[in-house]
Amino acid sequence: MGKDAYCEIPAFVSRANCTNCLTTTEIMKPLHRISFEEAHCASCDELLQLTTFDRITSNASDVLEQTLSSLGIPPLEILRAQTPDWRTQYLELTGDSVDFPFSI
Ligand SMILES: [Zn+2]
Repeated sequence: MGKDAYCEIPAFVSRANCTNCLTTTEIMKPLHRISFEEAHCASCDELLQLTTFDRITSNASDVLEQTLSSLGIPPLEILRAQTPDWRTQYLELTGDSVDFPFSI
């Protein structure tokens, strides 16, 4: 699809900032796996501002080294990839199919 293509993933949290005590914490976890406690500052208990992204691009080197599971992508998921000029392809992740020994 080209080097400018990207793949959509579930919202992923890269860091959390506390606007009260100005601390920053690296999270690197899918948003749906963030607990209530993790969403609050460990120092002052203020609700944190989360920095998220939902696309993997070719220059996202820190994300490209993670497993699909750690990015919050379930087995046998279908992901959408798109180019800046709106060409779209869907990627069916079938590598996990051996772990699901049933057929539909
Ligand atoms: Zn704080």
